[in-house]
Amino acid sequence: MKKKVAIIGGGIAGLSAAIRLISSGNKVTLFEKNTTTGGKANELRKEGFRFDTGPSLLTMKFVLEELFESARINTDDYIKFTSLSTLCKYHYPDGTLINAYADREKFAGEIEAKTSDKAESIKKYLRYSKRIYDLTAELFLYKSFKEPSTFMNLRALKTLLNLRSIDAFRTINEANQSFFRDTKTIQLFNRYATYNGSNPFEAPATLNIIPHVECSLGAYLPEKGIYSITEALTKVAEDLGVSIQYNCNVEKITHKEKVVKGVRVNGIEEKYDIVVAGSDVNYTYINLFDNLEIKESRKYKKLTPSSSAVVFYWGVKNYTSPLSTHNIFFSDNYKAEFDDIFKEKRTPRDPTVYVYISSKTVQGDAPEGGENWFVMTNAPYSEGQDWLNEIKIQEEVIKKKISKTLGINIEQHIRFSEVLTPPIIEAQTNSHLGSLYGISSNNRNAAFLRQGNRSGYFKNLYFCGGSAHPGGGIPLVLLSGKIACDLIRKDYD
Ligand SMILES: Cc1cc2nc3c(=O)[nH]c(=O)nc-3n(C[C@H](O)[C@H](O)[C@H](O)COP(=O)(O)OP(=O)(O)OC[C@H]3O[C@@H](n4cnc5c(N)ncnc54)[C@H](O)[C@@H]3O)c2cc1C
Repeated sequence: MKKKVAIIGGGIAGLSAAIRLISSGNKVTLFEKNTTTGGKANELRKEGFRFDTGPSLLTMKFVLEELFESARINTDDYIKFTSLSTLCKYHYPDGTLINAYADREKFAGEIEAKTSDKAESIKKYLRYSKRIYDLTAELFLYKSFKEPSTFMNLRALKTLLNLRSIDAFRTINEANQSFFRDTKTIQLFNRYATYNGSNPFEAPATLNIIPHVECSLGAYLPEKGIYSITEALTKVAEDLGVSIQYNCNVEKITHKEKVVKGVRVNGIEEKYDIVVAGSDVNYTYINLFDNLEIKESRKYKKLTPSSSAVVFYWGVKNYTSPLSTHNIFFSDNYKAEFDDIFKEKRTPRDPTVYVYISSKTVQGDAPEGGENWFVMTNAPYSEGQDWLNEIKIQEEVIKKKISKTLGINIEQHIRFSEVLTPPIIEAQTNSHLGSLYGISSNNRNAAFLRQGNRSGYFKNLYFCGGSAHPGGGIPLVLLSGKIACDLIRKDYD
């Protein structure tokens, strides 16, 4: 198979597709509108501090390793990982601190010591989470969801005929309440819904596979931070011969009826045999096809985007915090927090605050005596809110909460502050309404409704990325690139 392929977007998904397509003998050009690759997985450097701007945690590391192996590349030559012994430190409003240790026995012991739940209930819960993973991963994550062959095996049919076994009829919160009696433990496990921008009070409990992915399969940070994943993928792609064109905004996907002809970039039309859109699906339909009205795009536009985020990047000086790499400061009322995000469409008035300090693990990410704080709260997708006001509200409440919990005045230690909001995310990456993970999974049918990796309308258009199957987050978008490439191989070999 030697085809001329254009890839739109140098996010993690576009890079994943580029590496696989060049490895299978194609001529690949990747167009990135920005000056760097990475999309949401980017970095910010300022006054001696370095920040990962988006993702802060890697799960399912084996997906990345398999991508390197597929290109006959030794992962260790490009990137080395630190496995985290403490996954996260959870701070509760009443002063309780729960350490989520990677070691299962230790974590279960911590839960028994700090809550009214038993250690055994954690083990039982993680077995349940593994069971859902074992039943669903192959079907929902690793293969195209639109190919009849995906469903033509006993295991897939068994899963689909028995949705009860994958807990599709309860919400995450309902399932978690059935395992634990302490609200602290329930809140801790409900939080995993936010890993794909969903609401634990609405999303199906099938998403309870996420605790297994993090707690049992492991959570990692590259030795040089998350952005080094972007750098490694970019280097591998270029070493293999992918032509990466920076500052190249794809303005249109040209087509004649149902056949894509190529792309128009910076005013110039170029012909390609195949186009892979690593750009957001809604953005692609609306902007690159002049609001093309086909069944697929009409259906997609009706779906609810996932949540977004407000992130502050603080250069913290003269302070060594008692925090870990990943930290949570929980809200008092989790239900009210998600009502704010998904119903009121405003930032939470009492948010759960996530603080990621890569300098606790990554040497050189902050100057001597300082720390690089990535401070994030979940937010609604952008819908005309007054973001200046929302930022002000978040900043005030976050500083108050952190200062109270740590017994300091954090304000005094902030040397500078930069901010990321949903409209900025949209402007930087063309993510529809600034959502982080494509469409939300609050609906039980989300997995079935998400855009497939092959266009149902155009003969030679494929999709990868967080808004296409199998969804958002680093491992899944890496897989989306793989599935798109598998389909292309199948169609053209
Ligand atoms: C604050 C934040 C925290 C997150 N935390 C985590 C986490 O801890 N763990 C995790 O796994 N995931 C996390 N995520 C999600 C993760 O970052 C994304 O799912 C993933 O990076 C998306 O990759 P992508 O390639 O699909 O899209 P993007 O990263 O959005 O990349 C799309 C690329 O396409 C380019 N592009 C778009 N349109 C065009 C065009 N017309 N022409 C040329 N180029 C174009 C954009 O510039 C961009 O570079 C987080 C995201 C954010 C923002």
